Amino acid sequence: MEKIDKIYFDIDGVIKGVASPQKDVIALLRYCLDNYLGSVYWLTTHCRSGENHTDFALRGEFPNDLVDELYDKILPTDWEVLKTDAIDLDSDFVWFDDNLFETERMVLERNYVLDGFFKMNPKDHEMAKKALDFLKKFEK
Ligand SMILES: [Mg+2]
Repeated sequence: MEKIDKIYFDIDGVIKGVASPQKDVIALLRYCLDNYLGSVYWLTTHCRSGENHTDFALRGEFPNDLVDELYDKILPTDWEVLKTDAIDLDSDFVWFDDNLFETERMVLERNYVLDGFFKMNPKDHEMAKKALDFLKKFEK
């Protein structure tokens, strides 16, 4: 992968319920909005089956104005069973998630895009920083 076309974000274990300092999580989100606006998507159970409840999931966790901005700017996806159903497998994507189901792994492998999955460890205090460092390697 030499460039990034799309970025997918899980919420729980990725930007919420994580050991990373909140300022690092916000810096990661800020970077995505500033550099990939229009190409950042939710990929979370809080946005599924045509319903986007990400604002409810994040309210109280982050400053209200940021929650509203994320709700406005991060694009919803529509999926039912496998998150990979919502991913554009033909694009160069990064998918930040703390969990990958075996069936989802198989889909990624079959399409030769397993390298698009970026495993987030919620217990790692440096995780948000590591994710941001990763993105910066692709700086346009
Ligand atoms: Mg999760």
